[in-house]
Amino acid sequence: MADRRVISNGWSNGVAVDLLVEDGVVVDEHIDPTSIDCPVVDVGGRMLLPALAEPHAHLDKALTAELAPNPTGDLRGAIDAWMEAEAAGRFEPVGMADRIRDELRRLLLSGTTAVRSHLNVGGGVGVDHLRVALDVADEFSGSMDIQLVAMITMPLTGPGSEQNVAALHEAVEAGVHLVGGCPHLEPDSAGAIAVLAAVAGEGRPIDLHIDETLDPSMLTIIDLIAAARERPDVNFTASHCVSLSAVHGDLLLRIADDLAACAIGVVALPQTNLFLQGRESTRLTPRGIAPVGTLRERGVMVAAGGDNVQDPFNLMGRSDPLEAAALMVMAAHESPTDALNLVSNGARAVMGLPECGPTVGAVADIVAVPARSAREAVADAGADRIVFRAGREVARSTVTRTTAVDD
Ligand SMILES: [Zn+2]
Repeated sequence: MADRRVISNGWSNGVAVDLLVEDGVVVDEHIDPTSIDCPVVDVGGRMLLPALAEPHAHLDKALTAELAPNPTGDLRGAIDAWMEAEAAGRFEPVGMADRIRDELRRLLLSGTTAVRSHLNVGGGVGVDHLRVALDVADEFSGSMDIQLVAMITMPLTGPGSEQNVAALHEAVEAGVHLVGGCPHLEPDSAGAIAVLAAVAGEGRPIDLHIDETLDPSMLTIIDLIAAARERPDVNFTASHCVSLSAVHGDLLLRIADDLAACAIGVVALPQTNLFLQGRESTRLTPRGIAPVGTLRERGVMVAAGGDNVQDPFNLMGRSDPLEAAALMVMAAHESPTDALNLVSNGARAVMGLPECGPTVGAVADIVAVPARSAREAVADAGADRIVFRAGREVARSTVTRTTAVDD
């Protein structure tokens, strides 16, 4: 017996729709809700959008701005603040679990039904943060697809690497979904990627923090492309790609074509890049956002994520992918429609998830918002949202606003 649900009284692509969902997939866009005996949710004329996706979070760091104050505002200050708070024992498991739960709840309320999060692994913490996140992720498994990445501490090769490589193996045994790291911080970036690919084994994707610097000569993305050619069985994602924003001309186009040929997804992260990068500039401050427009034109899978939320790496953050979408419109000159795709089905494609939305054949992960266009949905980004996962309502926010001049 199929699980049937109806999402009624919405609209999409300019027309009114009443969706029939069977076993989590939209099978009809125009059914008569009274003709079928199954649960019906009336969305009150709201616009139906594909559910949002967060392709790059840091759940272990989320909501720690006060626990780990960043005195300088730059990346060095953020790392120092984090290490100092960690050494002082401020990230005990119960508090971290509470913050991760809070952050996932905030994301779900915003309409996010797919999350990929990096977690520090190795160094002094081993797999402690990862285990906390794996446990909390279980609690949300009915409402969200959650992918956890072991972001390994450097170095992964040479002296001092043994403990980190051991932690990487431990993370894989604990059930981490992906492995990752920061090749541009490694003494041997190609060697580090090779270690990750070897430990990942078959079927486990790799998501790397790539070239989080404005130095255009730092292009470990070329090492990543070489590794992807050697291991076509592994799915790679390149997150950040800040230095790529400083590359132009033939070199940029060549890299873009190679990324497309290797099916490497690129995740732009406007919030943290705008916050951390370019602090040394006194004029014409660079933005440091991956050039998604050019990449898309060359056939690269592109997405945008929120990265850090109210932690020492980014003091701001609303846990709402529409915030990243709005920044991609303003700071990266994406159209509102393209920006919305970067934080919904574009992000899902990079995450290896099937397309969702209010169309026949798509997974019925949907967010209903009181907007008249995609542009207005991104611009207003109001809290009023109804969130569906596989056709089932999983979150709802209602908002009442009045003024003295209202009747
Ligand atoms: Zn990150």
